[in-house]
Order: sequence, then C-alpha cells, then structure tokens
Amino acid sequence: MSEEIRTHALVVGSGFAGLGMAIAMKQAGMDDFLILEAAEGVGGTWRDNHYPGAACDVESHLYSFSFRPKADWSRMYAPQREILGYLEECVDAYGLGPHLHFGRRACGARYDARARRWKVETEDGTHYSAAVLISGTGGLSRPAYPDIAGLDSFGGATFHSARWSDDVDLRHKRVGVIGTGASAIQIVPEIASDVRELTVFQRSAPWIVARPDRAIGKVEQALFRRMPALQLLARKAIYLRRELLALGFVVDPRLLKVAERMAAAYLAKCVPDLELRRKLTPDYRLGCKRVLLSNDYYQSLQRPNVQLETEAIERIEPRGVVTRDGRLHDLDVLVLATGFAAAEAVAPFPVRGVDGSELDALWQDGAEAYLGTTVARFPNLFTIVGPNTGLGHSSMVFMIESQIAYILDCLRQMRRHEIAAVTLRPEIQRAYNRDLAARLERTVWASGCRSWYRTASGKNTTLWPGFTFEFWWRTRHFDLGDYELEFDAARDERPETRRVSLAN
Ligand code: NAP
Repeated sequence: MSEEIRTHALVVGSGFAGLGMAIAMKQAGMDDFLILEAAEGVGGTWRDNHYPGAACDVESHLYSFSFRPKADWSRMYAPQREILGYLEECVDAYGLGPHLHFGRRACGARYDARARRWKVETEDGTHYSAAVLISGTGGLSRPAYPDIAGLDSFGGATFHSARWSDDVDLRHKRVGVIGTGASAIQIVPEIASDVRELTVFQRSAPWIVARPDRAIGKVEQALFRRMPALQLLARKAIYLRRELLALGFVVDPRLLKVAERMAAAYLAKCVPDLELRRKLTPDYRLGCKRVLLSNDYYQSLQRPNVQLETEAIERIEPRGVVTRDGRLHDLDVLVLATGFAAAEAVAPFPVRGVDGSELDALWQDGAEAYLGTTVARFPNLFTIVGPNTGLGHSSMVFMIESQIAYILDCLRQMRRHEIAAVTLRPEIQRAYNRDLAARLERTVWASGCRSWYRTASGKNTTLWPGFTFEFWWRTRHFDLGDYELEFDAARDERPETRRVSLAN
C-alpha cells in the first residue's frame, strides 16, 4: 500500500461547491485541507459542459459567490467559458493551488470508527486519511445515457452533451440531437447554421420563456467596480424577483397559470406554423420540469435544414436513428443531450459509514439526508448539493453557500469544544424527511410529469420545497443538539458515543 496522505478535511470536487468550501476554510484559518479533483482542472460542471452555446440560465450577478462579486461580467447570463474563468480566478485569489490534487478520482471512502477518520482511496491507488470528508461532486455530474436499442452500433460519432467532442467537425454533417432539455435548447441554435441537416428528437416538449439577456457595457461595469453597493443592489433585486417564482412552484402551483399563458403566447409569437406549434406545446404544467430560457431555439427549429422529430425512437442502427413509424434518419453525428443521473440512488462514490453501512444501499429507495448535508451513520461526512437542495427557480450558488456556512459552523464548534466526531441522530433525519415529503407533494413538481427531479418510483430527492431564504435560515447555525458527539481522547477517554448538550 502506498503511503497515506493525512489531512484534517478532505474535499472532493472543485466546482462551486468544493472551491467555495475551501475558500471558507481558508478564510477561517483552517488551512489543513486538501481538494481531490478527478480532472486536470477546476470548474466541475462548468468545465465539463463546454458544448456550443453553453451558458448559465441564472443571471451571473446572482450566480456567483456573494463574497466575490465580479463587476465585469460580459452579459447578464454569462457564457460557460467566463464562469469557468471566474472559478479559476478564485483558485489564484484565495491561494488554493497547493491544496489541489488533480487527476485523483475518489473511488471509495470508508469510516474507521476506531481512528475516527475517513479513509479515502483514489483510482490511481493513492490513500488519504481525513477527520472530515466533504463531498462537492455536484448534483449533475454523471451523464445519463439513454437506454435505446442499438445505441452502441451507430457508425458515426456519438457523444453526450456534457462530454462534447471538440474533435468532431459538425460542418456540413447530418447531425441528430436526442433530447430537448436545458442543454439541447442551447446547442441546437448554436450549431443549426453550421450543419447540413439537423434532426432534433423530442420526447416531450419543454416550456420555454424568453431569456432577458443583454451585454453589460463598459460603463455599467465601471459603475459596478466603483460602486460595489450598486452591484449588491442589482444582485438583491434579481434574488427577490426569482424568489417570487417560488410562490408558484412550492406554495400554490395555480399561480403558474399566468406564466403558462405568457409562455404559450411567446410560443405563438415565435412559431406561426400551427402544426409545429402543436408539437412544441407541452402537455404538463409549467414548472413540473425545469422551465427553459431561450431567445433562439424556436427560431432555429424553423430553419430549412432543421426538423423536429416527435415520433418516438425505436432503435439506433449503424446508419442512424429509426423512429417507431419505421423511418430511418440517416446521420453522421449523434448528440445525446439526455441529461444526468440525478435522482437515482447513487452516492458520488462508494461510501461506507459506521458498521460498514453503504450509502448507496441506504439510498436505494431515494437519497435522504438532513438539510442536504449530513446523513445518519456517516460521522463527519458532509454532502454539498446533497439530497433535496436543488432549485427550479434560483441560483444553486446561494444554496451551496448556505451549506458551506452550516459545515463551517460545525467545524468551528468541533474545534472549540474538541469534538472528534458528529453523527446525525437518525430521528432528526427521519422527521426532516417526513416533513420534506409532505411539502413536496404540494409542489408543482408532483403535478404528474416525468422529470429528472424524481426517482423511477416518484420520490423527489433533488429539490428543495421552499423559499431559498428558509434554507439559508435553517443552515445558518449548526445545532450540536441534532448530533451524537464524540470527543477527542484528551477530553474523553471513553470510546463510546454519547449525546451531550453544549452551550454554543
Ligand atoms: P434534461 O433536462 O434532463 O433533458 C434531457 C432531455 O433528454 C429531455 O428532453 C428528455 O426527454 C430527453 N431524453 C432523455 N432520455 C431520452 C430517451 N431515452 N429518448 C428520448 N429522449 C430522451 O437534461 P439537460 O438538458 O442536460 O439539463 C439537465 C439540467 O442541467 C437542467 O435541468 C439544468 O438544471 C441544468 N442545466 C443548466 C443549464 C444552464 O444553466 N444553462 C444548461 C444545461 C443544463 P423527457 O423530457 O421526455 O424526459
């Protein structure tokens, strides 16, 4: 066995979650941490999703760290390259370089209860030992490949939208795109003018609204630079406007009827052809799946070289895609914009807690945690963007920062009270998830569509069923009373776990 690398806190992943956590620890004077990154660069989803047209559908003034505003965002909705650049700048600005271990994909983590340490192995055979393990691997990091007969037999190039192949030249090719989600509606307009023919395979029509995007000029950027309070005001205004949307998603879905009418009017304005409009009209409530933003998707579908195929896919052959009506769509390239495995019960990597409990096995019927962050039987394990922390209406960076504050408060209290391990009390997890399930039933996401928000059995394991300020409020302080505590040997020689209450 290779030599073990010891650290106090081991962070896995270097996207917004991993880097944000690292910055928070650094600023709190907790320097003893390492970040494992499977790839050769930071950025997580913003590194992986570099398909043509990739951009954020949340305004960048909000979709960025609150503690590091960027005055010179080029657009209201920044493109992927700029967001990745922002994260790379953070690495330099906060001196994270020496903490990063690239090319280290975590492939297993096991809690050693005697040593009260996590033992983590990476694919290259390196061993790590850490008191605290923080997973920041993201909710949308595992591409979902469609289960379509013959997919592997396709003779042309095939790749997933999150693994875009820059080596494949699409110009003058016959290209097929499977899927019409957030990724596809950005890809299609971007490649439509380059390719010879483009066939978009739609299984269900998404709700789409216009994206109020615009360039941010030099004057506005200079204003934000000189008057940071102005940018903060802009951020708060965006935040509040988006929070209003939650009224429809989680309080009373009937409120979304107005948005539904606006989206239908937008479709009618963009698509005069009644038959095409019929195909593009969703058959479920707006908001049940993610509402998409685009100013050019509908337009691109009306180009002479583009066709929308709504017949179900039967199989894939070496020459192309065969739809259920028996037609063969001849293709040179097939893009799978088929989304991510988000709701199914899969831990980021095999994780074993006390008594060898496997996270994957416990999450077989749908992942459960407390505040998306801690899991009973898994001491000192923290999952950023864990179960039920996703959003349909606002910035994930806000949720990530809330979780980071919660974890940091825990680390501070552990240091202050010489606590070696915190383990969530199972009854806290049970009560919390009972409440979540009841609330989720009343949301628009339970209104009867199939989406990546829910497992095959219908359990919503991905979304937070409230306003984001409620999540912020509940994570602003780590309540030791919710946890079983074990103390450092110096303070408590007895190995058995016991509950104590401490004044904070
Ligand atoms: P997605 O929203 O899950 O969309 C996947 C698409 O593939 C859907 O249209 C789905 O159809 C279709 N599909 C899946 N399996 C299929 C099959 N076997 N046959 C035919 N069609 C199939 O995935 P995504 O577009 O990658 O987006 C995922 C999430 O990533 C988004 O919801 C968003 O949270 C995030 N995202 C954000 C941005 C942004 O900020 N701009 C961009 C991209 C992604 P059905 O609808 O019928 O299931």
